[in-house]
Order: sequence, then structure tokens, then C-alpha cells
Amino acid sequence: MTATAGGATPIVDWCPSGLVHPAIAVRRSRAHITDERGQEWIALLSGWGSNILGYDHPRVLDAVRTQLGKGIGTGIQTPVWTEVVRLLQKTVPCAEQVAFGKNGSDVTTGAVRLARAFTGRERVLIRGYHGFQDWYMASDPGCLGIPGGLRETVAGLPVNDIGALGEMLELADNIAAVIVDPAALPIPDSAYLLGLVALCREHGVLVIFDEVVTGFRLAPGGAQEHYGVKPDLACFAKAMANGFPLSALVGPEYLMATLPATRFGMTFASEVVSLAAAQATISEICENDVCSALWAKGEFLRQGLRRGAERCGLNIELAGEPPRTQVIFSDQGGLSERLLRWLFLQELGRQQILATGILLISLAHDDDDLERVIAVSERAFEVVAEAVERGSAENLMAAELLASVRAADDRTACAPPPASAESPQPTSTLGHLIRRGSAGVRRRLRLLFGGPKPIRLPDDFDWRAYLRRYPDLQETGHDTEAKAALHFQEYGAREGRWATRESYPPRRAMSCPAVHSLFLRAWGDLACWDDAGVDGKLQPFDQSTDYARDVFLGPVSDRIRQDLYANRMPFPEYCSRCICLETEVMHTSYNRDCKVMETFHLEPSFRCMLDCPGCIKREVRRLAPRPHSLQPEVLEKILRDLDNGGVTVRRFNLQGHGEPLLNPDLAGLVGLAKSFYPNAYLAINTNANRPFDEEMVRAGVDELVCSVDGVDQASYEKYRVGGDFAATYRFMSDAAAAAPGLPLPLRIVWRYTVFEHNDKPEQLLEAQRLAREAGIGQMLFVLSSNGPMSNRMVRAEQIPVLDPGVPVAIHAHSPSPGDLERRLKLAEEALEGGNESTAGSLVASVARNLSRFYLEKGRVSVNFESVLADVTRLAERLPEQEIAAVHTELELLNAQQ
Ligand code: PMP
Repeated sequence: MTATAGGATPIVDWCPSGLVHPAIAVRRSRAHITDERGQEWIALLSGWGSNILGYDHPRVLDAVRTQLGKGIGTGIQTPVWTEVVRLLQKTVPCAEQVAFGKNGSDVTTGAVRLARAFTGRERVLIRGYHGFQDWYMASDPGCLGIPGGLRETVAGLPVNDIGALGEMLELADNIAAVIVDPAALPIPDSAYLLGLVALCREHGVLVIFDEVVTGFRLAPGGAQEHYGVKPDLACFAKAMANGFPLSALVGPEYLMATLPATRFGMTFASEVVSLAAAQATISEICENDVCSALWAKGEFLRQGLRRGAERCGLNIELAGEPPRTQVIFSDQGGLSERLLRWLFLQELGRQQILATGILLISLAHDDDDLERVIAVSERAFEVVAEAVERGSAENLMAAELLASVRAADDRTACAPPPASAESPQPTSTLGHLIRRGSAGVRRRLRLLFGGPKPIRLPDDFDWRAYLRRYPDLQETGHDTEAKAALHFQEYGAREGRWATRESYPPRRAMSCPAVHSLFLRAWGDLACWDDAGVDGKLQPFDQSTDYARDVFLGPVSDRIRQDLYANRMPFPEYCSRCICLETEVMHTSYNRDCKVMETFHLEPSFRCMLDCPGCIKREVRRLAPRPHSLQPEVLEKILRDLDNGGVTVRRFNLQGHGEPLLNPDLAGLVGLAKSFYPNAYLAINTNANRPFDEEMVRAGVDELVCSVDGVDQASYEKYRVGGDFAATYRFMSDAAAAAPGLPLPLRIVWRYTVFEHNDKPEQLLEAQRLAREAGIGQMLFVLSSNGPMSNRMVRAEQIPVLDPGVPVAIHAHSPSPGDLERRLKLAEEALEGGNESTAGSLVASVARNLSRFYLEKGRVSVNFESVLADVTRLAERLPEQEIAAVHTELELLNAQQ
């Protein structure tokens, strides 16, 4: 980007500042910049896509000014940090947890390192540009200063070719992740992305969406919302803070728990001004449908450009999606694409339009701006057409620019086979593997997709809906029922495609983990995994049930999905109390239709020997149905059905209200789960009161979560009544000692729920010291509102962290204040719209949450004081018959305050 004095300015292909563009911008406003000569330019650069609302959007500036008034800084988390996390959780489908960085490169690097740490593998397949750091630049042979060893670890993902990807994953082991920029050309479609995710899951490869460009631009939730495909991890940057430096790595809790162990972190990650800007930016994007405006503006501009080019008989491609269009000329009249493009850009620049080949629209580009761009390009296309006709750009293009473009063309011609930033190619190792393996590939692919087991067509297979939904099928000549059925059986089912009805448009509605998870009780019933783990029975065990067709892909789970999608609580009696219920979450066809089960909770036993105050009492326990140990035949039947029906299970959680270690055949259950789903992650949640058994772990356990709430017998036993602290500590240390000798990595997590009797800072530090001493991988502190809740530790930042210690994570087991606030906002809207019964049930659900968690404690935690005040205020506006549902809880609560 730097202009050298004298001689040809070296063109960095995308921005020869000072030649076609102003070298210095002295002022920016809305969609315009002013250069040092006082000339105003229309900027189609939008801060490399970051100024999505325009350069000086009032809401963002106000938020920044307010924050400046409160002081700037970094290091200690602030309320605005929590707010931005909540906004991301609400907006981005895969964002359960969030870690902030400053640049896109920070978070793509964090994501890749996390994937490597989590999978224990090294290689990464890339698609697009992912930043300037070594792990990625190792794919660019022209980039100097990269350690040679790294070059072997990165390769290009075959472009939009599922077959070739399948081939690669079959042949090259050791692949940790596939990272995809969904804006990289040629852009993918949802069928491809669905296939990619399904295939990667089968191979235990994580999928990272690099949403640095697509985030907040294609849709508020990025490409994953736009295409309806949820990746494992995603990276956001550019537009999220409208020009302020901020980026985010997001993903599910079970993956993000490994992030601390990768040492992800930087001084300015929690810098507060950018967070304030992000809060305003994301809110504006979500509340005012900014993305639709960008699509409309982009489309308008494209139509104008297309008309202009056609009029001059020029061959151009407008690639990408309208919010980010890339103008590509083909080689014509003996002139290169690059030369024609820069001639076009030069002509725009001569009329003060600042553009690279990539047109980045912002909300601030108004009709006048766009019409002017179209008018100027008409003239610019004429100049390009003249050059094509003459076969030369001499006298049309500034000599200095022409020299630079030619030099760049020469460099490309002499360069080794491309591994350019836009579309890197496989590096030698993988490319070589692919070539070597090609002979056996067809057979392998058949095994991979078709497999020995034929996939049964669903009873309600709707071939027309199937074809309508996936344009790639129409394009490849699938036009009859037989062809559609064959495609579904050979590929579609494994790719997670949906073949029974139309897709449901993404929209905000209620959600909860039951949308894509199941919970199997020790005696074989399927139950709802609510936060208490006890309430909702979905169906008893039944040999004649097909657990794929009739349950997970059929009416049992579908009823829950349909209710939530229609904003109804599926089981109002306990959904209204359950902290798993979320409001206004983005539903995509992924949530409803994908054949991936996120978590299969298993309850290996219901025979816990402890008597903890927050749990089911022993006498009630005894009355539960029998057997109290999960039978392998039951699990096998269910897994077989799921597998036959094409369902992929991503994670097994062995927990529930018994103690997994008390199942005499725990190793058998683990082995069974892994034999059907070798790539699923399997975690056991135990109270660790038994001796550690290496055989059980060897059967396929990936993670042991040990719930040990204390640092000695006195602090531990108060809650874990009847438990033995020394035994738990021995269990954890033995597991940690055994881990290095195991064939697969084993993660050991010490889960410490903070109560009033174990919450002194010295105790929390002592736990971390003990964890370090025993070699335990992670400390997880849980701030609970259940049981004898802590008054001292209410917020994450109050937990002291030992340095050096083990990685620490902190979770809150309590209702989400943000979600309760959202319900009250919806209730208010419902009241204004005259819908009193909806308002009543929403307010009631908030009151029930608060009373359930806080009644016995005699006070509401500080995090919820304003929520309680709002409930009280809103309840006064409800009519008498609606208030009845809320009344008792509210009276009790108010009496306690
Ligand atoms: N990923 C993508 C898709 C990008 O376009 C970019 C930058 N253009 C990056 C990552 C790197 O982001 P940054 O320049 O903020 O480090």
C-alpha cells in the first residue's frame, strides 16, 4: 500500500494508493472520504468492509462517547463485555461462548489452534484468505519468513467439490479442521456447506467458518444464518464494531473449554471502547434490518453495472453476493483481466469513486451515491471497451499505472503454481496424496457415502420438495422421483439433507437444547433434558420404535421443534421454569432439519450414594422405575436405529441423576457408544468418589468432569453429603497420572460449584493449586443459584485466578438475565398489541424462574434485581385473570425482598 518515491509504484494488487486512489484521507463521513486536496470521494471500500453502517454512524459514535465518559481501559471485564457476548449469543447460531480479539487474524489463529488442540491433529484445509499469520501464510509459497515445517500442515480445500473433499479426508489423516471463508469465490451454496459439515463430522474434523467478511453482512448471524448451516467454530471481525478494532471467536461450550489451554489471549481483548461500538453496531444491524438494506443496495448497483457493461459489449462477471460484489473482467482483446480491471478502476478514480474490484456497500451509501457510481461506470466501461478494441491500453491508462500492472502480470506469469490469498491450492503433500490415491477413490467414496447399509427412504419422502429445495440437484439433472430417491439414499441422507418437506425460513423464536439432543434415562425412558434433568418424559423404551424415524427425526423431537418454532413452550409447566429455554434465538433449517444430534445424554445409573441438598432425595429415588442401571441392549437398540437412519451423534454426555461410575458395565456402555460413533466426543460427569478405572477410559472416554465442590472434607461434605474428599482427589490425580500413557488424549476437568461454604478466595485459589499439583487439565467454577448459593461470588470476575495455575473457566448455572429481559420486552410488546394472554405467560415464566431459584435464598442475586423490578411493574399492567398465574410467585418473591 505504500507509494515509493520515483519509479513505478509497486502495485499491491488490490490498492495502488496515490495512483488511482487518494493516498491520504483527511476526513470520513457516511459513505464519503475527503482527501488532502479537499476533494470528496464516494468510497466503496467501507474500511475494508468494516464500516458497515457508514463512517460516522450516530448510534455508534454516541455509544463510544458515552463509554469515553466512563473511562477507557482493558483487562477487567465490564458490563459492555457481557452485553456484546449476549448479543452474539443471540445473533450467531453457533455462538455459545465468545472470546474477543482485535483483528480477524487473531481469531482465525485462535480457532485453528483450538481445533488442533481439541482434535490432537495438525493439518488444516483452507478456503479463502484467513489473515497474515504463519499458520495460514504457510500456504503461500511467495510469503517469506515462514518456517519450512509449517508448509506441510496446510492445504487448499477442493473448491466446492464434496467428492474431492471426501477423497482428501479418506486419504490424509491428521486433519484437524477445515476453515472456510464463505465469501471466497466461487461462493458455495447451502447444499455444499451442508455436505461439508456432514462429511467433516464423519471424520472428526472441525468446521470453522471464517466470517470475517460475511459476518453481519450477508445476515446478522453471518453466512451460517444465510445458508442455514452451523459450523463448529466461527470467526468474526471487520463489521462487528463499525470500524473499531474488534474480533470474536465463537463456538459451543464443549469446544471453547479448550481455548484457555491454547493460551489464547491478548492485552487489548477486553478494550472497552470497541466493545461499546460493537454493542451499538450489532444492535443497529439486528433491530433495523441493515442486512436487507445492503442486499437491496448491492442488487441495485449490480443491475446498473451489468447494464453498463452489456451496453459496451464487455464480458464481466459480478461475483459473490450483492452485499459484497466482486467485479471480474475476463482476458479480452489480448489484454489481461488485471489490466482491464485497473483501467476501469482508474476511470472511477478520475471521477472520485474509490473502489477496488470488490465493492463493499455500507448502509450509508444512498441512492445518489449509487446512481453516481453507475453513471460513472458507464463511461468507464466505454474506455475499457475502447482498449479491448484497440488491443492496447497505451494512452488510456496512466503510464505509471500501466507499468505497475504489467509488472504484476509478469510476476503472476513467473510465479510458482498459485497459492494466492484468494484461492490457495493444495500444497504438495496433500496434493500428492490425492494423486496417489485416485485409483481407489471411487470405491472409497462409495463406502463413505453409499456404504454397505442402504439408507431407507423416509415414509413421507417428498421428492418434489427435495428437488425444489436443493438447486444443485436440479442443475445436475435430477428430475424424476427415481433419481431424487437414489440421490437421497446415496448422498443426501449422509449429507444431512432433508427430504420430506419444505424448509422453514430462518427466524427468531424460542429454542432449547432439546431441539437437537436426547436424554436417555437409566431405565430406558427418553426424557426432556431440562436443567433439573427430571421433569419431562418423552416416551418409554419400546423395542418396536424406530429411534431415528419415530423419535429424533420424527414426531417426538419434531413436536418440540414445532412448538418452539411457533414460540410455544412445549411443556409449559416446566419449560417456564427451565433455564435451558431461550427466547428469540435464530432458528435455521439446520436446527429443525439437520440429522446431527448435538448431544446424547445418557444416564448410566440412578443409584447415587450421596445425598446432596440440591438433588432428588434418596427416598424419592428409590421409587423411580427400574432397572437403575442403563442396560447395554437398550442403548444398542437406540444407537443402531439412529445409525441406520443416518443420524450423526456429535457428543455423548454420561451423567444424569445417578452416578455413572456405579453402572457395573460402564466400560461396555462407553465402548458401545464409540463403536457406533467413533468420532463423537464422550464425556463422563462423575462425583469421583470411586477408584479410577483405566479400562473404562480406554474404552473411549475423551473427558472426565469431576464434580468436587470443596478443597477439604469440611468444605466438600456440606453439599456432597456422605462424600469423601480424599477419594475424589485421588480419582482426579490418578486419572491425570494415567492420561499421558493412554492411546487417545483424556481431558480431566475439576468442576467446582461455588456455594456459601466453599467460596472464600483462599479456597478457590487452593483448589487451583491442588489442580496444578495433580496435573488436572482445567478448573471449571460454576456459579450456582441452586443449593446453598454463594453471596460472595456472584459474578465471574470475582473469582480469583492463580498464576501460574491451570486454565480456569467459569459458568453460571442460573437463568440468563438477558433472556429474562428479552421475555419482558416481548411481554411489553404483546401488551401493546393487545395480546394479554401471551404477555401473561411470558411474565409468569420470568417470575417462575426467579422464584424457583431465589425464593429459598431470601434474596435475588444482584444480577437479577432490575429484572425483578420489571416483573413487578409489568404485572401491574396485566389483567386480573392473567396475573393469577404469576401471582403466587410474585407475592412470595416480593415478600422476601
Ligand atoms: N479472514 C478473512 C476472510 C479476511 O478477509 C481477512 C482480512 N481481509 C482476515 C481473515 C484477516 O483479518 P485481519 O486483517 O483483520 O487480521
